[in-house]
Amino acid sequence: QGPPPVTRYNLNKVTVTSDPVRNQEHILILTPMARFYQEYWDNLLRLNYPHELITLGFILPKTKEGNQATSMLQKQIQKTQNYGPEKDRFKSIIILRQDFDPAVVSQDESERHKLANQKARREVMAKARNSLLFTTLGPSTSWVLWLDADITETAPTLIQDLASHDKPIIVANCFQKYYDPESKKMAERPYDFNSWQDSETALKMAEQMGPDDILLEGYAEMATYRTLLAYMSTPGGSKDLVVPLDGVGGTALLVKADVHRDGAMFPPFAFYHLIESEGFAKMAKRLGWQPYGLPNYKVYHYNE
Ligand code: GDP
Ligand code: MN
Repeated sequence: QGPPPVTRYNLNKVTVTSDPVRNQEHILILTPMARFYQEYWDNLLRLNYPHELITLGFILPKTKEGNQATSMLQKQIQKTQNYGPEKDRFKSIIILRQDFDPAVVSQDESERHKLANQKARREVMAKARNSLLFTTLGPSTSWVLWLDADITETAPTLIQDLASHDKPIIVANCFQKYYDPESKKMAERPYDFNSWQDSETALKMAEQMGPDDILLEGYAEMATYRTLLAYMSTPGGSKDLVVPLDGVGGTALLVKADVHRDGAMFPPFAFYHLIESEGFAKMAKRLGWQPYGLPNYKVYHYNE
């Protein structure tokens, strides 16, 4: 028996177009997962991009909660891949368990969002994303969709909608539905503040910082006066409106695989005083890839 055959891939034959369904483009959906929500999985199953072109990748921490989430996830995967309708089945699924400890921060929202906890938390998030990305990106991947485990509502056409703009990096506007006791009706509010256009103030603040210090968005203690994608939506505004961004969040973020292949990742350290997904946007920009956002194209975050 001779040596194993060499598999050759011509990366220039992997197309990345605004009509990925017609061109049968492979997409990798990546989800760092601390908790499993059934609503996330149900929404994922409803995505009507051909599932045979979709590979799923997950990374979960090795904590009690992470173990629990892993077993819930595995149960749903079994059901979908072995017993569910053929059209629901994904091309392949990869589950990674984190080989580093999660930040010692509770997963409860109030703790998670405290300013003092942010640097450690975002650093771990960045490492989780990088680990997931570098172990799953394949030679035939055209697109990477970053989709957080607590995104429970999107259009079934999410992938096609984002790809139709043909941008290297494009992020949806992440909102949250809640019960408004005043109007006694369901309402919605902006959730993710990590997608923004830079401001003079933020740039000046960064200039005065130590080499390891990071800017964070959405904290009164650190007013940056950036223009947030979260507040750019307008009632009745076009879902196709596209704006350039300097920072992006990772909740529902479509990236051309070549951006990652060029080396853009999620810095787990202060990169231009930015970390994780915001640092990723900066790194991509330095590599010549401009990030964009869709003010009126919404996805919804779970309400704890
Ligand atoms: P927030 O929405 O800004 O509060 O951020 P999340 O806490 O929801 O984190 C973003 C995504 O990463 C979600 O999909 C979480 O389930 C996941 N996540 C959070 N912490 C960890 C962690 O320590 N390890 C891994 N693998 N995933 C995590
Ligand atoms: Mn979240």
